Amino acid sequence: MPPLKTRFAPSPTGFLHIGGARTALFNYLYARRHGGSFLLRIEDTDRERSTEASTKAILDSMKWLGMDWDEGPYFQSERTEIYRGHVDRLLAEGKAYRCDCPPELLDAKREAALKADGKVMYDGHCRERIDVDPSKPHVVRFKGPKTGQTVVHDLLRGDVSFENSDLDDLILLRSDGGPMYNFVVVVDDILMEITHVIRGDDHLTNTPRQIQLYEALGAPLPQFAHVPMILGQDKKRLSKRHGATSVESYREAGYLPEALVNFLARLGWSHGDQEIFTLAELVEHFDLDGVGRSAGVFNADKLLWLNAHYIKECPREHLASLVRPFVEAKGYDAADTAKLETLVEVFRSRCKLLSEFADKAAPYYVRPLELQPDDARKQLTAAVAPVLEDLLQAFRAAPAWTVEALGEAFHAVVEGKHGLKIGKAAQPLRVSLVGTTVSPGIFETLVLVGRDWALERIERGIAYARANPA
Ligand code: GLU
Repeated sequence: MPPLKTRFAPSPTGFLHIGGARTALFNYLYARRHGGSFLLRIEDTDRERSTEASTKAILDSMKWLGMDWDEGPYFQSERTEIYRGHVDRLLAEGKAYRCDCPPELLDAKREAALKADGKVMYDGHCRERIDVDPSKPHVVRFKGPKTGQTVVHDLLRGDVSFENSDLDDLILLRSDGGPMYNFVVVVDDILMEITHVIRGDDHLTNTPRQIQLYEALGAPLPQFAHVPMILGQDKKRLSKRHGATSVESYREAGYLPEALVNFLARLGWSHGDQEIFTLAELVEHFDLDGVGRSAGVFNADKLLWLNAHYIKECPREHLASLVRPFVEAKGYDAADTAKLETLVEVFRSRCKLLSEFADKAAPYYVRPLELQPDDARKQLTAAVAPVLEDLLQAFRAAPAWTVEALGEAFHAVVEGKHGLKIGKAAQPLRVSLVGTTVSPGIFETLVLVGRDWALERIERGIAYARANPA
C-alpha cells in the first residue's frame, strides 16, 4: 500500500470559498488523522480566469486557518510539458485522437441537439479518422469506451454507475495546446501519488471520465469520497445570495480561525453531539464515517456562538494582538499593549466579534465621547453633581495620575467628605469618563483615559448632571 496522501486542488479564480475551505479541511484532517501527508496544488490551467492575487488570497487563507501542507504548492501552469507528454502517449497507443471539427460546426450540432432531445454530446465524427493533419488546428480527444458502465466506488455514497454511452469523447488538449481540467487532474493525481480524493459532490459527474483516464494511463485508482455541498438556510446551495462566502470576509469581520475551523468541520461531519473541537481534537476524531449523507446547512448564528466561545477562551496577550489591527483600522493608536490587554479583558465577555472590541474601545482612543443616553440619564443626576465637582477638584490636585494617588483622592471625597458608598459615586464617574457603566476598575479607567481627557469629561458630566431633570 502506498502511503496515504490527500490533496487540496483549488482553482485560483477568486477568494477561498467556505465550501473550498471545508474540502481543504476534510483532506487535511484525514491525512493528519491517518498519519499521511497533505498536498496543495493550484489548478491554474484556465489562464484567463486564474489570477496571482487569487492564488495569494487562497494561500493566505489556508495559513490563517492553520492548515499547513506537506507538499506543494504545485502550479499546473508550470506542468504543461508533462501533460503534453501524456497526451502523446495516449495518441501513440491509440487511446486518443485528433479532431479538427470546426468549432462553428460543433456549435451548430450542439444547438440542433438541444432542440431535438437536449442531449449535447460530441458525435465522434473524428474518432476513427487517420487523415487529420497535425499541423492544422485541432484538439485531442480521449477515445473513451462506448459500451458498458463505469462505476465510481465512493467511500461516502457507495457505488454510483454511469453509462459509458452517456459520456462523449473528452477534449484532453485544446487547439491552442492548453490541457483540459479533467485530464490534468488525473495526470497530477497519478504523478503526485494521491491515494484519497476528497472533494465536493459537484465533481461526481467528472469522476467516471477521470476513472477511464486512470485506466487508459494504466494507473491504479485512488479512493474517492464526494462530500455533499453546503446549503444556505433556505436549503439552496450556498452562494453569495446568502451573504459572505469567502474565508477572507470572515477574517475581516472579526472571526477567529479556531471558530471557523470548528464550524467548517461540523458542516457535514459529526462526532456524537460534541460541538466544540480544537484542531487537535479534530485530528484525533475526524474520519469519513462521521461525514453525513445529507448536506450541511450553514448556520450563521452558530458560527457567531462559536466565535464568542473562542474569544472567551483566548489567552489575553493573544486576544490583544488579534484585536489590535481592528482598533488600528479605526485610526486609533493601539501601540500601548498594556492598555489594550486591560480593555480586552473587560470586554471579552461582551464581544462576539473581534471588530466589536474596536467600538467598545473608542472612548479610550478618541477624544469626543458619546454618552449612552440611558446610562447618562440614570447615573448623572443632579444629586451627584456636587460629588463629581469635589472629585474634579481632588483629581486636579492629585500629586500623580496613578491608580494609587487617584484612589486616595476618590476615597477622601466620597467616603470622607460625602459619607457615601463607593458604588454611588463610581458609576456616575464611570459614565462621565467613558459614556457607559462598563469599564475596567474605576481608577484604572481614569489612568487609561488620561488626565486631560478625564478632567474634561468629568466637567462635561457635571454639566449634564446639573441639567438632568431626572
Ligand atoms: N480545481 C477543482 C475546483 O476548484 C478541484 C478539482 C478536484 O478536487 O478534483 O473545483
